[in-house]
Amino acid sequence: MPIRKIERTPSAYAYPLLIKNMLRMPMIYAPKQEIVYRDKIRYDYLTLNRRVSQLANMLEQAGVTSGNTVAVMDWDSHRYLECFFAVPMMGAVLHTVNIRLSPEQLIYTINHAEDDIILLNSDFLPVIESIRDQLKTVKKFILLTDMETPPASAIELAGEYENLLSQSSPEYDFPDFDEDAMATMFYTTGTTGMPKGVYYSHRQLVLHTYGLMSAVCIYKSQINLNSTDVYMPLTPMFHVHAWGIPYLCTMIGLKQVYPGKYEPPVLLKLITTENVTFSHCVPTIIHMLVTSPAIRQFDLSKWKVVIGGSALPKGLCKTALSFGIGLTAAYGMSETCPILSAANMKPFMLDWDEDRQIEIRCKTGLPLPLVHLEIVDTDGIPVPHDGKSTGEVVTRAPWLTQGYLKDPERSEQLWENGWLHTGDIGNIDPEGYLQITDRVKDVIKTGGEWISSLELEDIISQHHAVSEAAVIGVPDEKWGGRPMALVVLKEEYKGKITEEELRDFFKKYVDNGSIPKYGIPGKISIVDAIAKTSVGKINKKELRVHYK
Ligand code: AMP
Repeated sequence: MPIRKIERTPSAYAYPLLIKNMLRMPMIYAPKQEIVYRDKIRYDYLTLNRRVSQLANMLEQAGVTSGNTVAVMDWDSHRYLECFFAVPMMGAVLHTVNIRLSPEQLIYTINHAEDDIILLNSDFLPVIESIRDQLKTVKKFILLTDMETPPASAIELAGEYENLLSQSSPEYDFPDFDEDAMATMFYTTGTTGMPKGVYYSHRQLVLHTYGLMSAVCIYKSQINLNSTDVYMPLTPMFHVHAWGIPYLCTMIGLKQVYPGKYEPPVLLKLITTENVTFSHCVPTIIHMLVTSPAIRQFDLSKWKVVIGGSALPKGLCKTALSFGIGLTAAYGMSETCPILSAANMKPFMLDWDEDRQIEIRCKTGLPLPLVHLEIVDTDGIPVPHDGKSTGEVVTRAPWLTQGYLKDPERSEQLWENGWLHTGDIGNIDPEGYLQITDRVKDVIKTGGEWISSLELEDIISQHHAVSEAAVIGVPDEKWGGRPMALVVLKEEYKGKITEEELRDFFKKYVDNGSIPKYGIPGKISIVDAIAKTSVGKINKKELRVHYK
């Protein structure tokens, strides 16, 4: 198609979308704004800026050059935030290592990513010591620690972060380069095989930050993040860059609080003493906090929390709202940077009563600006947005991984026909809200009919005695498969509720037409705990194997 390209006078500057450019404005708008790390460190944005330059000098001193891969293994800290900026800004690639991987997966991912150097929290020294001789590309380790006296180590360390930083110059001239340069990478643990590497460019991270900003800051909705909010991540920084939200909050100059290792009493204390108003996490973390005995001592009424990584069950949403916590679901995946949609209420919904609002807050959400979401049938044809027609969710957006690292075959499967295939099943309603009903691999087929495991979880989560629930498909001779529910009861109901009573609860939803009769789980098991993945989601793969 003939187009008229813009002309560029020879002196015009073709501004690249680089991460360094997001760090400019907060130094003007909020130079004295605070960044806090537990009860240990508190500094301002000017210090952050200075330390980012010092870190780049320190890495250069350690031999890091553009194109190298710098891995980080740390809890959520101000140091991690410094790495989010310094590493890509110097043209290197930040590999955020999932600290909960098994030693075997750590060896695989570190070798596959070809990490050159690892910045390593002292808590992970033992595991790295045990696999050091199998790490083929790592030349140096730098220690991150809060301890006054660093622990003894069996591996050779190139020094300790703070010590090396203090010896490094606070001036670093971050260069300009192509905005398509790789900025970050990390691994996603799929249901089969070894973890897969995904990667993002500077351009993608800048555009993701802007898309996210328009969704959570600009629309009049229940989220309405602005520069007076106080941010604390509760999704690990290794997991899809804590959903890219540290980039957004730094760019708009918010006060930020980094909690280190997640420990409920510390988290609750930080939220109230530092006046945290905005966080994000998987449902498990909120579940852990609302069931923590300490919660009643804290005022959480100013805390807005975006929930993602798994569906937000209505029962959990209601419980959190009863503590004043404003929950909203959002959706994305490791392959999508991650955020694709957020369950913003439209302005006319803000006057609805709580139960109607919960319906919206728990939806998978409205697409972010620039995100194109479609539901396609098995022939790849888009289905109507009528809230009923169901199929696979496919997407196009500026910030989707362009493949899996060194894996052309699975990259092409991901991008079949030019759409990123999420592997999620869902529908879109006439208001434009997406609702995920299952992962393709989690769907339950019973007597030839599909049942949504997430819908059944959502129903049972609303029973007053239920603390947490998971629904999986188990083989059945007669029906092919049947839903099975695993239920953890609230402390005060343990031993007082029977499986039959829970089954009766489902019957109400059959009577009002929400689910068909065959949707009532064939078996309901009351259990003490439900298996979780390394990022805290319900581990359905493990449950299916266990209950087969
Ligand atoms: P991960 O790559 O580990 O971030 O996992 C991504 C997957 O989590 C998605 O493909 C969905 O299956 C699931 N997920 C994320 N957010 C939601 C949500 N709001 N509702 C339902 N499932 C979700």
